[in-house]
Amino acid sequence: MADKPTFPPIDFRSELNEDQFGAVTSQSRNALVLAGAGSGKTRTLTYRVAWLLEQGVPPWRILLLTFTNKAAGEMLERIEDLTGIPRSQFWGGTFHSIGQRILRANAYAVGLNPDFTILDADDADALFSNVCKQVAPDFIKGKNSPTPRVIFDVVSYARNTRSPIEKIAKERLEWAPRAEEIVPALWKEYTAAKRLQNSCDYDDLLELLCELLRNDPPARERYGNRFLHILVDEFQDTNSLQSEIVRLISGPETHVMAVGDDAQCIYTWRGANYKNIVDFPINFPDTQLHKIEINYRSTPEILDFSNSILSARTEESGFSKQLRATREHGAPPYVIPQLDSFAQAHAVVSKIRTLVEDEGYSLSDIIVLYRAHFQAKELQLELTNLSVPFVITSGIQFFQQAHIRDFVAQLRFVQNHNDRVAFTRILNLIDKIGPRTAERILEAGNNVASNKNIKLLTALLDKLVLKKVPEVARDDYQDLILTLQDMSESLHGKEIQTGATAAELSQKIAKTPDEENSLGELFDFFADGNEYANSVLTENDIAKTENTVLATPAEVVRIGIDGWYGDFLKKIYPNWQQRYDDLESLIGFAEKFENLSDLLAQLALFSTETTDKDVRERNGGNDSLRLSTIHQAKGLEFPVVFVIGCADGLFPLRRAIEEGDLDEERRLFYVACTRAKEKLFMLYPKISSGRDSSLLDVSQFIREAEPSSYRMFYGSPRSF
Ligand code: ATP
Ligand code: MG
Repeated sequence: MADKPTFPPIDFRSELNEDQFGAVTSQSRNALVLAGAGSGKTRTLTYRVAWLLEQGVPPWRILLLTFTNKAAGEMLERIEDLTGIPRSQFWGGTFHSIGQRILRANAYAVGLNPDFTILDADDADALFSNVCKQVAPDFIKGKNSPTPRVIFDVVSYARNTRSPIEKIAKERLEWAPRAEEIVPALWKEYTAAKRLQNSCDYDDLLELLCELLRNDPPARERYGNRFLHILVDEFQDTNSLQSEIVRLISGPETHVMAVGDDAQCIYTWRGANYKNIVDFPINFPDTQLHKIEINYRSTPEILDFSNSILSARTEESGFSKQLRATREHGAPPYVIPQLDSFAQAHAVVSKIRTLVEDEGYSLSDIIVLYRAHFQAKELQLELTNLSVPFVITSGIQFFQQAHIRDFVAQLRFVQNHNDRVAFTRILNLIDKIGPRTAERILEAGNNVASNKNIKLLTALLDKLVLKKVPEVARDDYQDLILTLQDMSESLHGKEIQTGATAAELSQKIAKTPDEENSLGELFDFFADGNEYANSVLTENDIAKTENTVLATPAEVVRIGIDGWYGDFLKKIYPNWQQRYDDLESLIGFAEKFENLSDLLAQLALFSTETTDKDVRERNGGNDSLRLSTIHQAKGLEFPVVFVIGCADGLFPLRRAIEEGDLDEERRLFYVACTRAKEKLFMLYPKISSGRDSSLLDVSQFIREAEPSSYRMFYGSPRSF
């Protein structure tokens, strides 16, 4: 038998500082490690597990809870490297994965069979949708009614914050009549339906675990006795349900260690509550507080600036911390205004070039962070054009998101009425119209168009075609076609309604040798008899005869957003506001193009699906630039960090400013800046793109920071 690999003993004293060592070897019943970003909290947790193993605690008596599966995997890997104990022996993972594991073993106690299925988000949606249709069809039917998905989200928030569903429904769906009565009733039915098919959804994994521990004393005792140590990372982002689970699962002998940073709480919108940290010593008796005040990650310059962001907070957190830097001095953080978001993208890419070509960084040392996905699209364009390999942490590129593709399908169809794929994609968005119905509608439309010699878009509203549209879908369908007509008219000129595009018309005229003839034809089309100047007409010329100015691509985009799709988004997506912002940002993007076909050609370039893996393979390794929202970059660190869009309205987002809720945005900005180890560049466009281009001011978070803690830079991007 092969010998078990032996691992050199860990020199805890030399690998940890005094405070970290104190926390790692803590003997107190419970412990709270509270420290700022980059101070080694995660490292402390990892070494704590190694320490416990060295003290003889069996791995199966340790429960390690982290925020993401990726974080859990990385920590278990570190521990395996440090101690040689295979990760399979630990109980480590997210709250959901641990919930699943415990519920499997105790299914009967919560009314499930042990082979219960877990509904993923789509499954749960489909089931809840069915329940809504059966129980309260009127509640979801109207044009301004909440969709099942929106309702589902509202209830999920209530469950995660352990608040009464009636209360949250009333608050969040105040615009939907009787929401506080109907939503709980829907929920009751949905719960019964889940039970009937022996299944549970994601939130159940937490809720049922809580229920089990509360109502089944023997089970609670079993787990309470089993886990000698429970360790929780990123405690500031736990919600009230998760915090309750930690409380219930710890027995009389269990030691709980939580680590966190109240200044980095960025998930309150999903029910996280950093007060869990403040309340920790109340919920967990004999808590010893460990503070780590040394930062190992960032240069003193980056740290000063980050500390300075926090000093502007309105609400002082329960614990104050002052971080000291250990790293050598480096460059100051730079704030770099650029003309607009294209110039910003250009500046980022040229700076990355110098970093890689002259300063010895590799692309994988660099991350570009932003508040919202839409802010990265010009950068994606620039990187694609210059063939710089990049990966996007959340996996979906801006232009590959469903709502962007759905919208682009409308532009495609408006540009080219023969684009069947685009047409089917759009129609499929409407409930009750599947691919087959869409085909039938299109066929009927084409028949009517050729029989009556009218344009397809006009024909699509003909009685004969409407018959093919399921009755419940008819309102939506008509709104959609009217919007497409508006877009098309603006693009090609008004004659679209009367039977020909301007392009076809001018061709016809140009090809007709007999001028009388062409004149006659033209007058047929423009019954009001407007004059025209030339027998060979351009689209513009014809539009002028109609007193119409043809729309730019940006204007066509705007008409589309103002039309059916804008309303549709609100109904279908709980996070419609964010998606709406994405679409609005397309207007600014479209402004760079003179005609729609150029814009569409560029968009087509983006629409090939690539995954992280593809990009790496094409690139022959791991060396890609990383683009990420700040939420997704939590806990990570990079030598070089760019934060783009650092202007009021972009970061903080306009919505947050309007709602006066800036604290979470400020914490998010702090998280962004503290990812940087050596260099931090913050850029912003001085002119906003989109609907109302306006002048932008540098982010208030930067204005509030100590002016000596950063440097403004105006000039060529390569030289900063
Ligand atoms: P965040 O708040 O962003 O989650 P954190 O507090 O969890 O940060 P870590 O990621 O654990 O911080 O550590 C930050 C960096 O500092 C890591 O590269 C880590 O290896 C290093 N580090 C932490 N403590 C020490 C130490 N005592 N000696 C050397 N390096 C350290
Ligand atoms: Mg960490």
